[in-house]
Amino acid sequence: MMSSIKIVTEIPGPRSRTSSAGAATSIARPLVPGGKIFAASGEGALLTDVDGNRFIDFIGGVGCLVAGHSHPRVVKAVHDQVDAFMHTDFSLLPYQSYIDLATRLSQLCGGGRKAGFFNSGAEAVENAVKVAKAATGRSGIVCFEGAFHGRTLMAMSLTHRDVPYKDGFGPFAQQVYRAPYAGLFGASLKDSVDALTAIFAQHEIAGVIVEPVLGEGGFLPAAEGFLETIATMCNKHGSVFIADEIQSGYGRTGTFLATDRLGVRPDLITLGKSIASGLPLSAIVGDERWLDALSPNTLGGTYVGNPVACAAALAVLDVIDDERLVDRAKLIGEQLFEGWTKIAASGSVIREVRGLGAMVGVCFNDAKTTADVIAKALQRGVLSMSAGREGDVLRHLMPLVITDDQVAEALEIFGACVEES
Ligand code: PLP
Repeated sequence: MMSSIKIVTEIPGPRSRTSSAGAATSIARPLVPGGKIFAASGEGALLTDVDGNRFIDFIGGVGCLVAGHSHPRVVKAVHDQVDAFMHTDFSLLPYQSYIDLATRLSQLCGGGRKAGFFNSGAEAVENAVKVAKAATGRSGIVCFEGAFHGRTLMAMSLTHRDVPYKDGFGPFAQQVYRAPYAGLFGASLKDSVDALTAIFAQHEIAGVIVEPVLGEGGFLPAAEGFLETIATMCNKHGSVFIADEIQSGYGRTGTFLATDRLGVRPDLITLGKSIASGLPLSAIVGDERWLDALSPNTLGGTYVGNPVACAAALAVLDVIDDERLVDRAKLIGEQLFEGWTKIAASGSVIREVRGLGAMVGVCFNDAKTTADVIAKALQRGVLSMSAGREGDVLRHLMPLVITDDQVAEALEIFGACVEES
């Protein structure tokens, strides 16, 4: 097997180190990057840094690169659109690509849907909540422990973890009620159901927002019966069931939406990340019953549904179709499960290998070991990152265009790093 990795300097190399020093002096402290490798170019699942080191990229732009780095079809679509025009404001001077994208996403999200576009995942969440409130005339929103929904006011209020996301940024949005996520922090399905039942009994609930597979919260798929319960309760109370598929969507779990695989049909779905290969674009997709309850011009924004991002997004959908990336996610997931299960059995530092499709999380005994494995893998040419409240989960967000050989090479490296930890 020919190695995809090329290490030519120490890591980080001299150019990355110089850039890091510049970052520390010129960038506002909360935005100084934690990563010390500066990017130069990418292709497929490989990332080359400014010093000429080539890595297998298991970070994938934190889940934005289902179609890989700089896929030629996405690049061409972007170039063509940039040559034509870059911005109008869709609400005043519309263009066809927005409509085409809405049509295709509606079909991919179960059919009989409508869609609207925004810039970031957090904005999609904000707008899904606005829809739920305006359409129901209520103000309560239910969210869950372990949730991450973004960093704007409403999204941050729904997000669970204090540090670094909420600490010092209050007061938060009101009438947000948090229930246990079945399977997380020892909560059973009954614990979640009891909490939800009490919340619905005491408050007027506009909607419930849930990640079908916890992303930031630790790559934990919803326990059996959990999403069905939420769907049933929302249905019973006339509340909106919102699935936040910003991390779990776009084929990563082996179906276009994780909720397809988990057997539920949410009223509203938020999408982002891989939608436009990292260009700023997000979506809400859902039933007309809710989306069309709002009057014209009540949602929007200057850049939302930007034409360059829409062109990229249409090309991403073509790549997903033509390269059968949703099926690939299942196979990659199987390869990862098998590889990591063997690694886990060879020592005692891994508690659990879990996930859905290619959204695999490896739970180590503690955050220190996870960080150690990630740091060691970086030195050998694999980029990876953690998840979970304690940072004890190694998560896989590699592009789905990754080859079997590249997955195998990364697994071999992870195995060696675990052995040394
Ligand atoms: N929702 C989920 C499930 C996410 O994973 C994220 C980002 O990681 C967001 C919302 C927020 O998206 P963004 O960072 O694009 O605002």
